[in-house]
Amino acid sequence: MEINELNPDITSVAPSALRAFDHKISQDPNIVKLTLGEPDFNVPEHIKLAAIKAITDDKSHYPYYWGIQELRDAASEYYREKFGYNYTADQIVCSVGATEGLAATFKTLFKPGEGVIIPAPAYPVYKALAGVNHLKAIMVDTSTSDFVLTPEQVQAAIDANPETPIKGVVITDPCNPTGVIYTEDQLHALVDVLRDNKIWVISDEIYGKLLYGGAKHYSLSAWLPDQTIIVNGLSKSHAMTGWRIGFVFGPTGIIDEIAKAHQFQVTTPTSIVQYASVEALTHGQADAEKMRVIYEKRCTYLAAELQKLGFEMVKPGGAFYIFAKIPEICHQTSVEFADELAAKYHVGVMPGKPFGDDRYIRISYASSMDNIKAAVSGMAELLQSKK
Ligand code: PLP
Repeated sequence: MEINELNPDITSVAPSALRAFDHKISQDPNIVKLTLGEPDFNVPEHIKLAAIKAITDDKSHYPYYWGIQELRDAASEYYREKFGYNYTADQIVCSVGATEGLAATFKTLFKPGEGVIIPAPAYPVYKALAGVNHLKAIMVDTSTSDFVLTPEQVQAAIDANPETPIKGVVITDPCNPTGVIYTEDQLHALVDVLRDNKIWVISDEIYGKLLYGGAKHYSLSAWLPDQTIIVNGLSKSHAMTGWRIGFVFGPTGIIDEIAKAHQFQVTTPTSIVQYASVEALTHGQADAEKMRVIYEKRCTYLAAELQKLGFEMVKPGGAFYIFAKIPEICHQTSVEFADELAAKYHVGVMPGKPFGDDRYIRISYASSMDNIKAAVSGMAELLQSKK
């Protein structure tokens, strides 16, 4: 049997460059890593206990494919209160992490040959999903507009692709990798061009609970409820990355179709995780807030230190990343910079290239303050060596 006889939709997909880079530098036992978007907190005890209770209570049967009613009720209430969403339980599908929710959404909304606008730099999964669904990923550089997509950029992408019906746009707010958030006005400015051109919004709001400086979270679903699908989940807000729980919110009718795609892909998240997630949503708000406060302190410290070292950045307003421009004196691509930093100074940061911009590095502060300080020292030494 030959690999080239397998499905090229899969065999042509490059393995995650982010994971590959992280794996490479992890061979160094002394490496200090600020690479992955992986909270450095454990799952809160009461959520673990809820999972154990679900096991001992024999909650071991196939859950309904949309997710258990209790969890969809809890998600409806939690996200209404915390994010201002307006979705009832029958407009919510529980997915296997936000990633599977994104996959079911892409599969349902678009037909082969259609175009999806992806503001770059971007989380690489969107481009991969466009690829496996035979879509044209239209990467729009937002580095000229402080990493915020503008209506002019959307119109320019439409004009530049007359052969491709553009059917979707991905908005990641707060953004991975930039940490940038949209103001209410910036989001509202997109409404007319998206409505007039009947463009679906895939709104990835997985970092929406991690906002700093008193910022408020907005969602295009407020203005475009009939053409927005929101993806969210507990990976980042509740440090539950490995538990694999996410949510898709959408208008009646459309969400039923996304639920079908989801059912064929994976059936459901495990029953145990679903019951524990009810606990996370109903009694886990203080945990999420405690982590947010710690991330904010780290963000303030790291941004100030990086600026002292000569890195330029757009002030991050959320998530747990800083996307910093490599200082001119280095004359290096992002991969060269990250490789040298890891090899000589034992500090791991993500090159910007896999996100779509080779002039930057992404630094994750989902890591202890000690690690952040060690990383700053390593970067200071590297920069000193360039003078
Ligand atoms: N969306 C964005 C923007 C992310 O950065 C990530 C993970 O890093 C995900 C989705 C995936 O979330 P999940 O773990 O819920 O699949």
